[in-house]
Formats: sequence, structure tokens, C-alpha cells
Amino acid sequence: MAKWKACRNCKALTTENRCPICGSDDLTYNWEGIVAITDPLRSQLAKMLGHEKVGMYALRVW
Ligand SMILES: [Zn+2]
Repeated sequence: MAKWKACRNCKALTTENRCPICGSDDLTYNWEGIVAITDPLRSQLAKMLGHEKVGMYALRVW
């Protein structure tokens, strides 16, 4: 997972230079923990973390 970056805005993980979820280019290698959101409408975890779209997210970004 070394090439993966996390978005500082929404915590989405990506290998691109731009966040696929919110479009931000404020990405960082400083993240840890992975959450996969597959069903944001039903997932309590997605609600708790504030993720509204399917995707991979970091638990912590700094
Ligand atoms: Zn983002």
C-alpha cells in the first residue's frame, strides 16, 4: 500500500494525484488504517465516519 495517498479533505485513498471522491489535490502519504465503504446508505460505520460514497478511506490522516 506504499503508493496509496489519502485525501486530507475526505480521507479517501487513491493512487492518483487527485481525490476520486471530492476532487481535492491535497493528498498525503501520512495516513493509517483502512476502511472499505461498500454500502454507505446502510453502513453505520459510513455514517459514523461521514463517508457518503463507496470507496476506500483512511482511518487517520495527518
Ligand atoms: Zn477527498
